Parts: sequence; structure tokens; C-alpha cells
Amino acid sequence: MYCRVIVDIAHENVARPFTYLIPEGMNLSPGQRVAVPFGAREKEGVVLSLTDAADFDPAKIRTVIRPLEDYPAILPAMIKLAEEMAEKAHCPLAETLRLMLPAEMRGGRVRVRTVELAALAVPRAEAEEALEKERRSPKRREILRLLIASSPLRVTEIAEEVRDPREALKALRDAGLIRLTEEESLRTPGEGLPLDNEQWHPLTEMQQEALEEILPTLEKGGGRFLLHGVTGSGKTEVFLNAVRQTLRLGKSAIILVPEIALTPQMVRWFRARFGEVSAVLHSRLSAGERYDEWRRIRRGEARVIIGARSAVFAPAERLGLIVVDEEHESTYFSDHHPRYDAREVAESRCGREGASLILASATPSILSFARARRGDFMLLEMSRRVAGRPMPEVTVVDMRRELESGNRSVLSRELAAELGACLHGGQQAMLLINRRGYHSFVSCRSCGYVVKCPQCDVSMTCHIGEDGRQRETRLRCHYCGNSLPVPEKCPSCGSPYIRYFGAGTQKVEEEVQRLFPGTATVRMDIDTTGGRDGHARILEEFRSGRARVLIGTQMIAKGLDFPEVTLVGAVAADLTLNLPDYRSRERTFQLLTQVAGRAGRGNKPGRVVIQTYRPEDPVIRLAARQDYRAFFEEEFLRRRTALYPPFSVMARVLTESPLETAADRTAREIEEEIRKALETHPAWKKQVLMMSPEPPGLKLLRGLHRRQVLFKLRTGPDTEAFCAFLTETADRPRPAARSCFEYNPTAMM
Ligand code: ADP
Ligand code: ZN
Ligand code: ZN
Repeated sequence: MYCRVIVDIAHENVARPFTYLIPEGMNLSPGQRVAVPFGAREKEGVVLSLTDAADFDPAKIRTVIRPLEDYPAILPAMIKLAEEMAEKAHCPLAETLRLMLPAEMRGGRVRVRTVELAALAVPRAEAEEALEKERRSPKRREILRLLIASSPLRVTEIAEEVRDPREALKALRDAGLIRLTEEESLRTPGEGLPLDNEQWHPLTEMQQEALEEILPTLEKGGGRFLLHGVTGSGKTEVFLNAVRQTLRLGKSAIILVPEIALTPQMVRWFRARFGEVSAVLHSRLSAGERYDEWRRIRRGEARVIIGARSAVFAPAERLGLIVVDEEHESTYFSDHHPRYDAREVAESRCGREGASLILASATPSILSFARARRGDFMLLEMSRRVAGRPMPEVTVVDMRRELESGNRSVLSRELAAELGACLHGGQQAMLLINRRGYHSFVSCRSCGYVVKCPQCDVSMTCHIGEDGRQRETRLRCHYCGNSLPVPEKCPSCGSPYIRYFGAGTQKVEEEVQRLFPGTATVRMDIDTTGGRDGHARILEEFRSGRARVLIGTQMIAKGLDFPEVTLVGAVAADLTLNLPDYRSRERTFQLLTQVAGRAGRGNKPGRVVIQTYRPEDPVIRLAARQDYRAFFEEEFLRRRTALYPPFSVMARVLTESPLETAADRTAREIEEEIRKALETHPAWKKQVLMMSPEPPGLKLLRGLHRRQVLFKLRTGPDTEAFCAFLTETADRPRPAARSCFEYNPTAMM
């Protein structure tokens, strides 16, 4: 018997299965991990398939050394998934197979912890008989009594009742009455977590209607839904019920959330309702904890899995449901190699494994909503909040007017007044500003010079007192982390009139303190959320009511549910609108609608103030009305006119070089090669809706000069071949520059 093995080396030259002989007496099945000889070394690999024919000289075939586990670590459906992903990402199968395993399993880095168990080896009646006859040893009697009451028991548990039970246990084993075994002990993270004793809510009519579409489909298997419900409509409750039904059907469910640290409530809700059957996967677990959760899932003990994007690879054997909550979030896209979109993977898994898929959002991505309209997803809509709660009332403040009337503060008079009223009434407020730090840039009043990062083509942000020393001001680059002292004179003209502009989270916090001295505030941005539980600490500070105002970047817009929040302020609504990316309008709308949706989720109605320099912009107007449909129609039309996705796929060949001339030259060279190829391949040419050498949003990043050839592509039968050509062209080594082909990149910078 032979097996075909993918050896865990990600290199083009070994990107194929190798055949090994299975020694006499060794049982292997597909998906099992094995140690095999490779060259002069021992390597890990995954068995793809078994075969009884050798594909070359049997005398030369080497032998499997040993299995690494006694079960297939990778399920058959997951092998298929890995194959599909490898094909799509043009990468070796070994790389996508790695996604299916906890990292610490590779290279044998996890130590399995075991516990010793004692169990009756005979029927209970027989054990009772033995107990009767046992006169000599009180210890043996006691152990038998314990095991008759409950078997198996951990030896440590027995030791709490019976002192030094070892000898007695051995004697009972030798008499054939009990069995002693070792079993893996699994660490459950957050086991000590207090469970909310929350009951299942009686469903609202809209929740009920949505669920009635989902439940029969779960039973049949398959089906794809887009659950579009306004903020506070109770989407979670809908899929909690769908998960409950999935469990009743004996199947497993995966719930993907944008970021686990930002969704502690979701985890609490699931733990409260499903307890031990649930597993939580996230990057802040220790290696041992992560491995243990993975094992509990693989063994079918944990059947409700909550996690960020990589949880889509959880080894659930009888998968019944995948939920993607806040499906519009860009965190579902992984930019690490091999790149993948967790939503696509979820869809592919559901299709292959006969599971149902639910995408949920108050602001679905344009692509998903377009697909729902086309009939790819069944659209479930919930247009009202639960318990008759009103949508928050939104005011748009024109910041140009504020300036005209002499208010230079980052907070408009309206927002300041609302904040005063909110604090006075004992309620809580959230302030969003999508930029961290104190000032967003430093510029010269005389010549207009803006201090930019020497390594990157971006202005540097001013931070106060965060480099250890009190109140020391430094300039930092948010792209490369570079930091500089603030110049006293303009580096360009020498003028002393160097000034700060634009506000960040630090500045807003200071302003709140200035207007309302002594108010307890917390700030949430990358600078404050370091450490294992940075997010949790801040969110708890706010949840408990100790802090009255939460100030943060887009982090605070992600699905948080704080019932005491009655005021939300978007301090600088148009910050994200000007980014050089076709998705910036969509992202701004989502961000504003989501953050507005944090207000008035409890019994008191919410108020929202949106501050902007562009009050007439439709994105701002429609977000203020929280009118997703109208925004969708408008954006869809714009995309159609400008041939943006879903009417095309964006792609580019990006070139980087430490030398500007080399970057220029290489980009031109590549463009030329592509043009020639298009002339000789008319079929390819038809796929190209637009090709342009326009420079990327960031022309310099981490010291590298960047150029690009940008495409809008039509997908069709020749797309694969054309993209393969572009990949090859980009990957060809060239002097002093490196290029890569990006298909549908996450960021267009
Ligand atoms: P969404 O995700 O749609 O914004 P959530 O699922 O977070 O909304 O629910 C908002 C709030 O409403 C939560 O506090 C939740 O506990 C509560 N809730 C959900 N369903 C019901 C219901 N049927 N009755 C009462 N309260 C509910
Ligand atoms: Zn100057
Ligand atoms: Zn930089």
C-alpha cells in the first residue's frame, strides 16, 4: 500500500504530492499527518490519498516514518477546500493546507496535556457485587463506591476523597474491575467567565419572519441568506436561534465576527446560551489554548465555533451553518499569503459540505447586496429596531459655518451642547474620529510645507506623551512607525510659523476634558489597545459605567451594544471620504451608519451628531437618514457608470524599488510587455475594460518608490490565462525592482 503525501514545504519545486510506502501494520487515512523522509531530513506531510500502485520504481520509494496523530487532522472536505484555494491563489497546496491547522501543531510544538482517568471495567451490578465482597481494604471499597456512582472519574478527583489511592487503584485494575486510562486534557479559555443568565428573548415579528425562512432550509441543508437588518433590529437573536436549531439537528455552526476583541458581548451571549459546546478561536489565545480548542472542535465536543476570519477553517465535521456577522467588514479579507476572503471560503465550504450560509449586516457590502438582488442570496430584511425602539435622530453640522462663527474647537457648539445634556442626564456618549494621535499633520504657515515621513509619502501625525516621557510631543508615521521630534522651524524655509492641523483621538479627549472637566473618558485606538486584553479593559471600563465617554477610531463602530449610550458624535465624518480608493464612499457610509447605530439601543432614545465639511455630499446625507437602500442604488449606479466592481474586477501590477528611476523604468517596461501581449491575444484584450499607468495613492512607502499598472477587468473564459500571464510578467526578476500582480487588492493605496 502506498500513499500520496504533500510535504510541508512551500516551494514551487516540491508543489506536488510524493509517493511513500506505508509499512506493514501502519494504518493511514487521507488527511492524516505523517513524518516522512525528505532528502536527508525528516519532514511533516499530509496524506492526500492512498493507492496500491506505485507511480515509479517501487525499489526507490521511501517509507512513511510514523503518523503524527492517530486521526486525520484534516477532514476530506477541507483537503478539497485547500486544493481549490491553492488553485485560485496560484500557490503550492502545502501553503493552503497550513491554514487548516493551528500553527502550533506544525513542527510538533504543542505538548498534549493528559489526565488520568479511572472507569469501571465491568457492568455496574458486577461492581456492586465486588463491593459487597470487598472486606479487606476500605480504600478499594471507597473507590468502587465512587465509580459506581459516577464513572469515569479523574484520578485527581478520586484522590480528593481517598488518600493516596494509587495502590488501591492498581489492585482494582489487576482484578479486572476498573480500567485506568490517559486522556488528553483540554484547556478551555475563559472557563471562569461569569455567564450572563440571559434568557432567550421572545422574538419580534420581524425576527420570527426571518427565522421562518431559515429554519426549513437548515433542515434540508444548503441555502444562502443575506440578513439585512437596521442597527438594533436584533440580528444576533436570529442567528442564535438558527444555531440552536443546527445543534438540534446534530450539526455544528461557525460564527465569524470581524474581530473577537471587539465583540466580547457576542462571545458572552453564545457562552451563556450554549456553554461548553461552544469554542472561541482568536489570536490572543495562548498556543496551548488554541490547540485545545481546535481539538475540542475536531472531536465534535465543541459544536458552536466563534472566531475571526481564520475560524472559517475550523475542523467541524458535520457542518450545518456558517454565519458571517457584519459581513461588510474588510477584516474578513486576509492579505497575508495565501490571500483569501473568509466570506468566499465560507460560501465554498457551505456549498461543498451542504451547510447553510447567513451573511448579516445593517450595511451590507455593495457586492453582497447586488448578489442578493440578483437572487444569489435570499434577502431577509428587518427594517425596525426591537421593542419598538426608534432609530436615532441625526443632525448634520456644517463645520465651515462653525469656523465662520469663530468656533475653532473640534467639537461644534451643537455636539458640545448635546454632550453636556447627555452627561448631565447621567448617560453615556461615544465620539468617533477616524484618526489616532493628537494632530493629524504639521504644516508651515509661511510656505505651506507639510512634514512628511522621509520613508513614506504621507504626512506625519503628532502624538503627545506616548513615547514614555510625559507630554513629550513627537511626530509619527502611521504606515512605517517612524518617529521624529517636532521641528521648531520649517525644514523647508526656516520660518518659525510652524503650526498643527487636524484632530485625532488624543485631541478630542483633551477637548472633552476642557469643556467638561473631570469627566471620566476612555480612548480606544491602536495606541491604547496593546497587550493581551487591552480592548477588554477599555470596553469593561465603559460598560461598567465608570467611564462616561468613549472616544475612538472605527474600532468603536463595530457592533458594540451599550444600552446606556444615548449620544454618538462623528467628529470628522469626511476623513475617510477622500481616500484614493473606489470603496471609500461605501466605507464612509458603513462607518457613519454603524456608529450612529450605537446610539439609543437601550430604553432611552438616541441622538447622533455628524460633523462634516461636506454636508451636501450624498454619502453624508444618506448616512444621516440611515437609508441603506437609497445609498445602495446611488452607489450601484456610480459603479456601473465608472465600471467599478461588481461591473469589473480591479487588478494591478505593483512595482517597488528603492530607486525612483528603477521603479519608473520597470513599470514602463511591464506596461509595454502587457500592451504587446494584448495585441497578439485579441481575446485577452476584450477582457480589459481599462488599463492605466496612473501612480498608486502612496508613491513612497517604507522607503520604496511605488508605481502601478492599473486594470479594470471583465471576467470571462480568458481571465485565468490573462491573469496567469500578468502574474508571470510581474514575477519575472528584473534589476533593482520587484513587482507583483494583485487581483482585487484590499487596499488600492
Ligand atoms: P443588531 O446586531 O441587529 O444591531 P443586536 O442583535 O445586537 O442588534 O440586538 C440589539 C439589542 O436588542 C440587544 O441588546 C439584544 O439583546 C436585544 N434584543 C434582541 N432581540 C430582542 C427581542 N426579541 N426582544 C427584546 N430585546 C431583544
Ligand atoms: Zn516653510
Ligand atoms: Zn513612514
